[in-house]
Amino acid sequence: MAIIEAQGIRKSYGSLLALHDVDIAVEEGEILALIGPSGSGKSTLLRVLDLIEPATEGELSIFGIDVVEERGRWLDLRRRMGMLFQRPIVFNASVYDNVAMGLRYRRASGDEIDRRVREALEAVGLSRYTRSRATDLSGGEQQRVALSRVLVTDPEVLFLDEPTANLDPTSTATIEEIVVRLNREAGMTVLISTHDLAQGGQRLAHRVGGVMIEGGTIAQTGGPSSDVFRAPKDRRIARFVGVQNIIPAGSSPGARGGSPRWRWAGGRSSRRPPPPADEVEMVIRGGEDVSLHRREPMHEEAENLFPAMVTRIEPAAPFVNVTVRCGCDLVALVTARRADASDFVRGMEVWVSLQAKAVHLIPREER
Ligand code: ADP
Repeated sequence: MAIIEAQGIRKSYGSLLALHDVDIAVEEGEILALIGPSGSGKSTLLRVLDLIEPATEGELSIFGIDVVEERGRWLDLRRRMGMLFQRPIVFNASVYDNVAMGLRYRRASGDEIDRRVREALEAVGLSRYTRSRATDLSGGEQQRVALSRVLVTDPEVLFLDEPTANLDPTSTATIEEIVVRLNREAGMTVLISTHDLAQGGQRLAHRVGGVMIEGGTIAQTGGPSSDVFRAPKDRRIARFVGVQNIIPAGSSPGARGGSPRWRWAGGRSSRRPPPPADEVEMVIRGGEDVSLHRREPMHEEAENLFPAMVTRIEPAAPFVNVTVRCGCDLVALVTARRADASDFVRGMEVWVSLQAKAVHLIPREER
């Protein structure tokens, strides 16, 4: 069930159009990521959905309530949601008082405040800092204080606006673990904005719910059947999600001297015949989809197998980008260990294999 449903959202600040034509649905119990470059409108959308500020136009329903019609219910609805911002807001007081603040404001009893503050601090692993001054803690710990201040109010939906953008990798991992646990164990619905693709796509989210690109609108929504990482809908999104290979289909790789050995299978192209080669480009992720072999594999099941020559080797820790020429240039991402073991050098002859389903087609655009 969708607990947040928005349609045709538009938000302007004076003459600046921050959001337009945004449709999004957040399902109960999911972790949904909004990804996009800085300035694309992610924070603005979170603030609109969290009822921090109104949309200029559009339909919005939260927990089944039409919030455009029912402005009088905003405060109640807002109390069922919580937002963690990029920069932790902590006050120069004890960790306990920082977390208790929201409950005191809601006039909870002393015993209840005590119990809930302890639970919220335990949830973020800060129990032993209860009496510390919040401003003395590290950035990552302050963000956990801010998170427990949100959790103490027991939100049904947690909004996270670039929550780890200012944190080191260890603190980032801690916050991510907490968020996943809240989702798994407490069934909390989570909506997170991030420009960190690994966070949005692989580490945290069940679903990348929107790619905000092109200033202020959702250029592509993802889901189990349309993964923005594997099936970006155009060149701009493919570039944003870090696809290594975008190749005009007309110059596709092929067996030496022979015709291309692509079988247009999988993804969108499975039901239709392949479009004319001059109208499409092929998107191929360089990761596990492209395999390099030192000898012609005897039992390779990939639909595409062709000889190639290594033309470039570039370290990109923890991987190595190996470019091979096989009718066109194809970049394969090989783990550093694998690259060492295989002794790839420029000029070496290799075999490249990839599944037909690793090839995704996008419309060809003028460069
Ligand atoms: P993101 O979160 O993707 O970095 P934002 O939602 O913060 O993007 O910003 C989207 C656009 O809206 C930017 O051009 C930003 O300058 C503008 N914007 C955001 N909030 C305001 C505001 N309160 N007043 C004026 N412009 C704003």
